[in-house]
Amino acid sequence: MMISDDTVSAKKPISRCCFIFAFLFFSSQNAVVSSPPFDTPVARPLKKLDKHVVLLISTDGFRFGYHFKTNLPNIHRLIANGTEAETGLIPVFPTVTYPNHYSMVTGLYPAYHGIINNRFVDPKTGHVFTMASHEPEWWLGEPLWETVVKQGLKAATSIWPGSEVRKGSWDCPKGFCQHYNASVPVDDDVRVDTILSYFDLPSSDIPSFITIHFDDPDPQGHQVGPDDSLITEAVVNIDRLIGRFIDGFEKRGVFEDVTMIMVGDHGMVGTCDKKLIVLDDLAPWIKIPSGWVQNYNTLLAIKPPSGRDAKDVVAKINQGLRSGKVENGKHLKVYLKENLPSRLHYADSDRIPPIIGLVDEGFKVEQKKSEGKECGGAHGYDNAFFSMRSIFIGHGPMFSRGRKVPSFENVEIYNLISSILGVKAAPNNGSDEFASKVLLPRK
Ligand SMILES: [Zn+2]
Repeated sequence: MMISDDTVSAKKPISRCCFIFAFLFFSSQNAVVSSPPFDTPVARPLKKLDKHVVLLISTDGFRFGYHFKTNLPNIHRLIANGTEAETGLIPVFPTVTYPNHYSMVTGLYPAYHGIINNRFVDPKTGHVFTMASHEPEWWLGEPLWETVVKQGLKAATSIWPGSEVRKGSWDCPKGFCQHYNASVPVDDDVRVDTILSYFDLPSSDIPSFITIHFDDPDPQGHQVGPDDSLITEAVVNIDRLIGRFIDGFEKRGVFEDVTMIMVGDHGMVGTCDKKLIVLDDLAPWIKIPSGWVQNYNTLLAIKPPSGRDAKDVVAKINQGLRSGKVENGKHLKVYLKENLPSRLHYADSDRIPPIIGLVDEGFKVEQKKSEGKECGGAHGYDNAFFSMRSIFIGHGPMFSRGRKVPSFENVEIYNLISSILGVKAAPNNGSDEFASKVLLPRK
């Protein structure tokens, strides 16, 4: 299902007659009314900490709706006492892990922060970016940890994409910047406890901004699709980890002071039934050698060799796809990147290959027909698909309790956190007024 951003209608305002009635009713119950009964609520004062601390928790591939799969007491405690994006958090395009995690902490669309996919080729140098690339030249923009440290506060990170990159004022300090090591199993309980231990430090050493990224339930989603009991188990474990944070904060008397923001990077959709578009099937119209293709699956990315006109390649591919003779051809639409819908913001970088194909939900592009297992889950599609949405929950002194806000794009998170911490945000693609709409005003 495609859904546009404006399908989330604003809550109906209380009609004037009811408002006046309610005012009179409440007034008559209280002989002395010291303040208007519908006063604007303000941010709650900190009780123990002497500064705002934001803990940003990401759970990979946590599709919007997973939180209704079973009883998840800790996540629902945050929702009930915090502010939730009512129909989920909208990822940036492409809806994959690295571009989205880096958009959340920079407020920039991938074309501007440089991480345009989990894997891509730099057209100038021919170097390949992978999820293990930590050279600063790949990572543009200013991530939150850099913004915070630059302005004299402290930050800590735990396996968040880009956080191991030493850039600007951020040097990934020992003890406050957990590295990812593929050969060492990650113990999430230990990572949670490390973060909790920061709250035993002298106040001036407690990081103001802390990020942690949990890998689940993304691998399970790929393995079995979004509707398997394996997902429910993984989500129960995420809820347990959230509970471990809550317990640790309560023991230290800081649960109401710490701002916990829970997000995911993208959703997940089932890809069963061999719903494939095979590039070799286009041969009668145009031969696409695998050497031209930089990305298959849920996002097709093609860079024809110099000398081949990209516009002509697009025209021939689309001719084949629309001929009715290519199996599932109507489920792939190929564009010159500058002709993609502008809402995708996926053109303004030379790292983005010249030809991009948008794939329908649940379909995949492959070079040749494979005999492999085709039942599982995938993401990376157009961010307008509802299945690609994730969650947003904000809990803390500046979030209203039990409030629902319309869905928003994750590039707004950078400004939101900058505003809570009172740091000056670097230029970004988020909107200036977003934070004031979602957060409670300071007293
Ligand atoms: Zn994934």
